[in-house]
Amino acid sequence: MYDVLVIGAGPSGSVAAAFLHKAGLKVRVLEKETMPKFVIGESLLSNCNNILEEAGLLDAVYNYGFQYKNGAAFSWGEKYTYIDFCDKSSVGSGTTFQVPRADFDKLLIDEVQKLGVEVTYKCEVKAVDFSGQNAVLSVENNGISENLEAKFVLDASGYGRILPTLLNLETPSHLPPRSAYFTHIEDNITEPLYDRNKILITTHPVHRDVWIWLIPFSNGRCSIGVVGEKHIINPSNLEINPENNAEILKKCVYECPMLKRLLNNALWDTPVRNLNGYSKNVSRLYGDKYALLGNATEFLDPVFSSGVTIALYSAKIAAKCVIDEIKNGKADWENDYAKELMSGVDTFRVYVDGWYDGKFQDVIYYPKKDHKIKRYISSVLAGYAWDKSNPFVKDAKRHLDTLAELCK
Ligand SMILES: Cc1cc2nc3c(=O)[nH]c(=O)nc-3n(C[C@H](O)[C@H](O)[C@H](O)COP(=O)(O)OP(=O)(O)OC[C@H]3O[C@@H](n4cnc5c(N)ncnc54)[C@H](O)[C@@H]3O)c2cc1C
Repeated sequence: MYDVLVIGAGPSGSVAAAFLHKAGLKVRVLEKETMPKFVIGESLLSNCNNILEEAGLLDAVYNYGFQYKNGAAFSWGEKYTYIDFCDKSSVGSGTTFQVPRADFDKLLIDEVQKLGVEVTYKCEVKAVDFSGQNAVLSVENNGISENLEAKFVLDASGYGRILPTLLNLETPSHLPPRSAYFTHIEDNITEPLYDRNKILITTHPVHRDVWIWLIPFSNGRCSIGVVGEKHIINPSNLEINPENNAEILKKCVYECPMLKRLLNNALWDTPVRNLNGYSKNVSRLYGDKYALLGNATEFLDPVFSSGVTIALYSAKIAAKCVIDEIKNGKADWENDYAKELMSGVDTFRVYVDGWYDGKFQDVIYYPKKDHKIKRYISSVLAGYAWDKSNPFVKDAKRHLDTLAELCK
């Protein structure tokens, strides 16, 4: 019998387990695969560092040697601009990391295990029963079926979306289904002024709603990927075989002048993967004896690298509610978890929507920037999407709309 069973050993599962263990609860993490394993989502936001520090995991991340990140750069045709995350209005870390997730996820869960949390690999949750006094999870643990009991269950199964599926909580995303084609390359970038400390987000020269990420790692390699609606990325008149992920990605990359220049010697040595319709939503974030974390909740879009930040923030505030519930017999899940989490997700939503309808791109690529406003926007993009002292968080849509009008 456990206090808490955590489904999934991704970033949200590891961080939740760290907070719960710190509070003296008996926690077990169940992970269906083994580590390390490939996961997409490699560019963190500065706010992640604050949460990792609170969870006691930041030193290990610092010591690992990941690529530093201090902002986001943007290119569109010959235009180039950047946001420095250290120059922001919110209080907290200005820097963070760009991480191959296979290494990062393994590092976090290994640290959590070292703290004393029980972690079981090759243990897949198959069914759940919340009808009794305790939660019961039916698992396939290294080929053997068994039932595990706990006072509470945190679903950190990410793309596995185990509770949304089993409890019928899935709802459609407000965003159109988009596709992503991505891989790792040996970048061989020789341009001396190229800034490896920033993610480079490139707007496609013809289709403003198609963009390409370039995320440098500390080992001379990069993650690269294109995102957009499938029929725009690979229109049927081009006659690229829809199964030929590499050709689709390379075509989009080399159509962008800056990427063409930077990556003229790149070695494309890894198969290109494809994900379709990754935006997801749920009808509720918690229920009797359970709560959803990270990607098992709503996932918007990768454009501002908000996924891991939302995953870590959800883990932090859900852990606090679980601790309240188990230790004090009650927690305000609606206000302290659901509303709080969604306030930040809704901030990101405004900027994601604004990116795809062009408003936020007008702001980003506008040549003359007011320093005070730039610092507010830097805070949002650095992951401080819950900081209500920032007017571009508190009243995000109104401020963005007004600014976009001025930048048109
Ligand atoms: C194209 C694309 C690009 C992205 N880029 C970024 C980026 O640059 N920066 C960023 O912050 N985010 C990015 N994201 C989002 C990011 O990938 C996720 O938000 C993040 O991984 C969520 O973490 P998590 O811990 O919630 O879930 P996950 O990382 O998905 O971890 C879930 C874990 O649960 C396990 N699991 C699943 N089902 C079960 C089961 N039944 N039983 C037991 N275990 C189970 C899985 O094996 C996995 O280890 C991107 C997403 C996409 C689609």
